[in-house]
Amino acid sequence: MAEAALPLTPAPMEGHGVYNRSSRVQAAGSAPALSLLERAATQAALAPAPEPITIADYGSSQGHNSLAPMRVAIAALRRASPTRAISVVHTDLPDNDFAALFRMLAEDPKSYLRGDPTVFVSAIGRSFYEQVLPPASVSLGWSSWATQWLSRVPAQIPDHIQAAFSKDVEAREAFARQAAEDWQCFLACRGREIRPGGRLVVLTMALDEAGGFGYGPVVEAIHDALLALVEEGFLAMEEVRRMAIPTVARSREEFQAPFRERGHVAGLAIEHLQMFLGEDRIWAEFERSRDAQAFGAGWAAFSRASVFPTLAAELSGGPGDPRAGEFMDRLEAIMAMRLAMAPVPMQMPLARMLLVKEGS
Ligand code: SAH
Repeated sequence: MAEAALPLTPAPMEGHGVYNRSSRVQAAGSAPALSLLERAATQAALAPAPEPITIADYGSSQGHNSLAPMRVAIAALRRASPTRAISVVHTDLPDNDFAALFRMLAEDPKSYLRGDPTVFVSAIGRSFYEQVLPPASVSLGWSSWATQWLSRVPAQIPDHIQAAFSKDVEAREAFARQAAEDWQCFLACRGREIRPGGRLVVLTMALDEAGGFGYGPVVEAIHDALLALVEEGFLAMEEVRRMAIPTVARSREEFQAPFRERGHVAGLAIEHLQMFLGEDRIWAEFERSRDAQAFGAGWAAFSRASVFPTLAAELSGGPGDPRAGEFMDRLEAIMAMRLAMAPVPMQMPLARMLLVKEGS
């Protein structure tokens, strides 16, 4: 179980709306989970009228990729409850760029707030490895591309920035232990928040059938670019050694492990779990355009928006290090150049699941 004073890792996605503008890969990856969300919304037990129906979005970042799922969920709920107030609660870490989220909701033509005055929005800045909403208050939960982030970096990775690519057995084991603990903790917290008969849909990174993490050329390009920055004298090797991306991909067995003993975790049980490969939007675009520069730039921007801030937090000056901006610019440029030299399709193993809270 998580302690009250969790260190704030990972750093949030890059602010100023950057994640919103550089997360098309994630949007495409989550699309196959939307049908599960629609099914969940149709089946979910609702709070008795006149209480609002609560939808929680766990790990929203700046919200742009939540627009499609929230629209699907609201439309499905509206079929049974045309006028009931719906409360959408986006949650993320305290340092998330919530201002970008609220501005986007106010301005984006596709905002789910448009045209329905009975939909209300709020946000919570607190780790989802704690209980963040009142007991039995959520009818429908959604979480995409978020539960692969661990609550902390459990060990240094001496030879890489991603444990899945490390040859260090101790580091790999420490990450596997943390992954098991965090998954159990996430489920236990959600089990308390979701009302009896409520539903939770989770989309997250997974291992492929051969146990592979995927994203090989992208992850290697980040690591190589960091070493190039050491060679250029911009980074100290000591800084690179501290850098670690605390994300994990889990196997089917690892997703199922907390349920093995009793069939449920805090009343939550798995109704549907499917492993699949996400659609690689950047490769599809490259096949159309044959533009290798755009291919490299696409994956570099993806990496920048999602993982560079976590790496930058390990610069010797800490999260406020004055080199952070230049660090991210240079890393992105080197990565883009390297990836442009040999465009390849990326394996993106994902899992989608629908969980049901017992009782109703
Ligand atoms: N759901 C969006 C955003 C995913 S980015 C999408 O599908 O594109 C992953 C988000 O999870 C980030 O905003 C990150 O800050 C958040 N996150 C990571 N660990 C978290 C935690 N412990 N509690 C809450 N949010 C977390």
